Amino acid sequence: MNGGGRLLSELSGREKPAAEGGKPVRDTFLIYGSPLIEEPEIREVVDTLESGWLGTGKKTHAFEELFRKHTGSKHALGLNSCTAALHLACVVSGLKPGDEVITTPMTFCATANVVVHAGATPVFADVEKDSMNIDPKQIEAHITARTRAVLIVHFTGRSCRMDEIMRIVQKHDLILIEDCAHAVETSWNGKPAGTFGNFGCFSFYVTKNVVTGEGGMLVTDNDEQYEQARILSLHGMSKDAYKRFSESGYKHYGVEYAGFKYNMTDMQASLGIHQLGRLNCNWERRREIWNRYNEAFRDLPCITPAPVEKGTKHAFHLYTLLLRLERLRVDRDTILDALAKENIGVGVHYLALHLQPFYRHTYHYHEGMFQNAEWISERTISIPLSPKLSDDDAGDVIRAVRKVLTWYEKGEG
Ligand SMILES: *Cc1c(COP(=O)(O)O)cnc(C)c1O
Repeated sequence: MNGGGRLLSELSGREKPAAEGGKPVRDTFLIYGSPLIEEPEIREVVDTLESGWLGTGKKTHAFEELFRKHTGSKHALGLNSCTAALHLACVVSGLKPGDEVITTPMTFCATANVVVHAGATPVFADVEKDSMNIDPKQIEAHITARTRAVLIVHFTGRSCRMDEIMRIVQKHDLILIEDCAHAVETSWNGKPAGTFGNFGCFSFYVTKNVVTGEGGMLVTDNDEQYEQARILSLHGMSKDAYKRFSESGYKHYGVEYAGFKYNMTDMQASLGIHQLGRLNCNWERRREIWNRYNEAFRDLPCITPAPVEKGTKHAFHLYTLLLRLERLRVDRDTILDALAKENIGVGVHYLALHLQPFYRHTYHYHEGMFQNAEWISERTISIPLSPKLSDDDAGDVIRAVRKVLTWYEKGEG
């Protein structure tokens, strides 16, 4: 490669993007959200395969115990997804038709879908422009006589403002469910995300901070609701129900509820146990990349993430740039395409949920109802942030973003 020539064009800020016929910053595609999987979890999975027990067993229970200690909750229930955890939280909360659950439109669809599955009605409330988290004032503005619960998301791993949210849920006697899919490491004044509300729901999906292929965890301090969730997570079956009929030896189970198939397996837990063990070093690596990105994008036509608030710990799950569209010649999707052509995987977190067809048609949501969420939805892009990234990978991301945004900046060509 012609290093001298590239340096000169970088200095002048005018390198032709691959989308315009230039050469991509790298030859191989950098997969968005590719997880770091290391030897210990590979060996643990093999050990599980060879043990003859692949289902829910002692490794699942060991992972639950590690996770329970990590959050300091009384109970942790391993599940096959965060969606399952959110759904069980809604079900054991006793939500019923007519109940309203206030949530954010700036989230993955699962957050609101589970409310629908539980038979209740999701009610969106707008987010703050800078934190991108649900605005406590907007929660309060949407409370009606039918409001039963608030479902918050610690978006990108940034804690919601828990002092205000706790004041509101206590004042109005509401159930609080925390979607912690981005927030395994998040805390507010030293208290972990997921332990403020009645339920905390975590995701171990392939792109998340802790990865088990598919997987999730429900945490709660409530003994009875934990027990109910545990039984519901495996078809509603309980060994206790038939206790009085069994003498000794073989125990029949009793089906107490029409439950779900939500259990975590030892295969998944094998990954989780070791992923959780490396939580801190992975977090530090993402923070390092996060800070490097902040420095590198300072002068570009985009807004970098708001600073981390004092007294909080950010999980650094997603790195999002908000494009300054007024300074660009093209729209967000053209920028996404151009980055992909540089061989950099990108994402969008998220298109505002109230504008998705189901929510438009079912609840009559439309443009203009949640202006901050819509503003973010139009201009947000997520770039790779994973402990798997090498310094060179992160450098490629930086070069690609600088190249594309500089090229498409107004008045630059
Ligand atoms: C990923 C995600 C979920 C769903 O998690 P799964 O484990 O895939 O079910 C829910 N909410 C948010 C905000 C997410 O990012």
